[in-house]
Amino acid sequence: MTDRLYYHDSFLYEFEGEVREITESPRPAVTLDRTAFYPTSGGQIHDTGWISSATTKQRVTEVADGEDGRVVHYLEAPAKDLAPGSHVRGEIDVLRRQDHMQQHSGQHVLSAAFVRLFQMPTVSFHMADDYCSIDLETLSLSKEQIESVESLANEIILENRPVDIRFVTRAEAGKLGLRKIPATERDELRLIDISDFDVTACGGTHVRQTGQIGCILLRKTEKVRQGYRVEFVAGLRAVAAARRDFTTLTEAAALFSAHIYEVPRQATKALEEIKTLRKQGAQFLEELAAAQAAALLAETPEADGRRVVVRTFSDRDINFVKLFAQKLTRLAPNVVALLGTSSPQAALVFAQSSGQNHDMGARMKETLGKFGGRGGGSQDMAQGGLPEASQVEPALAFAKLSFLT
Ligand SMILES: [Zn+2]
Repeated sequence: MTDRLYYHDSFLYEFEGEVREITESPRPAVTLDRTAFYPTSGGQIHDTGWISSATTKQRVTEVADGEDGRVVHYLEAPAKDLAPGSHVRGEIDVLRRQDHMQQHSGQHVLSAAFVRLFQMPTVSFHMADDYCSIDLETLSLSKEQIESVESLANEIILENRPVDIRFVTRAEAGKLGLRKIPATERDELRLIDISDFDVTACGGTHVRQTGQIGCILLRKTEKVRQGYRVEFVAGLRAVAAARRDFTTLTEAAALFSAHIYEVPRQATKALEEIKTLRKQGAQFLEELAAAQAAALLAETPEADGRRVVVRTFSDRDINFVKLFAQKLTRLAPNVVALLGTSSPQAALVFAQSSGQNHDMGARMKETLGKFGGRGGGSQDMAQGGLPEASQVEPALAFAKLSFLT
């Protein structure tokens, strides 16, 4: 069993110990008689740092709870020059530890504030690399509730209340009105006591005074199976998150040449404009197709009771060409439209005024078969794609020929 120095002092960043066990596989790891390294547990993620002897310095990349109360330090590389009995020095990555203390103590303040104000118990705590979250047992959670909890939590931080570590028996703990008593068989409980605000059993590393948390910023909330999940950041993470948000918002505001607080209004306005312009664009295309179809039909002579219209577009997509075919074939009862576009995608559209007895689907298949494209359609309207833009005109000429013979 490893003596856990962090139980008594979360600010102990360096310590000396003795190697108990060395493992090479599956990953190099070392166990000591005592450690200040915190292993991942209770929602808090592990410390990192270094373990060194007179001749070697190893990076500790992960720390985990092992069997029989041992703390296992995983090393970046095999522990050369270390053996059971070696004296070593441990160094914790201070910035990472301080960040974890800010998040975890912040979580205690936050969870207590949710209970104080709205009787919403915390059922779980999760610490990720850049944010944290708690799950609350509640059927609803409003924006106003979030704001009042955030405000109370920050007041408690500002009051700089002492945060004490205490060890009590389960019987004693029962009389203290703990927010949470863990289900363990151990008789001794470690309590984190935020003066006159919260007492909770917890094995994590915590600040000495609430002021060291810095601040708490509540962020996303979402409905989860058992209640609500609330994301938050505390201390320097809150500063980093606010900086990121500001940078993003500033970039968005620059696009609109507006103040950052104007972004939602400007974005709404821009989206509405896009919608209107799309509608207008569609209407213009419809009118353009109708006008061009009428003009083209007027200059197409009738032969054998049919008016075979052939036209290639170089800058219209297939949707416009289909629209054009529709307009043409509705203008007169005897129209056969053989249309193509070379850009953005080479494509063909064949259509006839309804009531005629050609099979445009079959003509399309026949033409595509000769030029290596794919497509098909019904008796009155068919479409297909061609591999090359240069094939559009020869394909239309081929199709026209079959209507003239
Ligand atoms: Zn805790």
